[in-house]
Amino acid sequence: MANDLFGGLGGLMKGLSGFMPQDDPNVILMNAQNEINDLKNQEEAVYTEIGKLAWAQNPGAFPEQKNRLELIRQNLSAAEAKLNAKQQEQKAAEQAKKEAEARTSCPKCGARNPDGVKFCQECGTKLGAAKAFCTSCGQENPPGTRFCGNCGKPLSSL
Ligand SMILES: [Zn+2]
Ligand SMILES: [Zn+2]
Repeated sequence: MANDLFGGLGGLMKGLSGFMPQDDPNVILMNAQNEINDLKNQEEAVYTEIGKLAWAQNPGAFPEQKNRLELIRQNLSAAEAKLNAKQQEQKAAEQAKKEAEARTSCPKCGARNPDGVKFCQECGTKLGAAKAFCTSCGQENPPGTRFCGNCGKPLSSL
């Protein structure tokens, strides 16, 4: 992963130096340094590949590294579990916020009311009341509606 990062930075630096005069001594130095960094990264990548191949062929030959790898993997799962829990927590908080907003938003005029308010401060509609379903056509109407918005039948339950 570190290799990708440095490779990416090298690429970025190269991109930047492309806008500068190529005979500038600083650019020449920077290009030379970039080339060295690139080659070192490539060398590192080959070593990593060799390491993985050797590991796959004979994991018993590296007991010390095996222990370290196991510890890293344990920590990795713990870190992933922690991230997961945090994400769930955030989701739940967002959901709770949405629900609170739905409770205080007027279903009729859309006005936002402060928490704990029972009637819309704009139009007086009861907040948090059940929606009125039309028994005739099934249309969902905002609480406090007297006639179905779809078929015009009176909504009796109110
Ligand atoms: Zn209202
Ligand atoms: Zn209806």
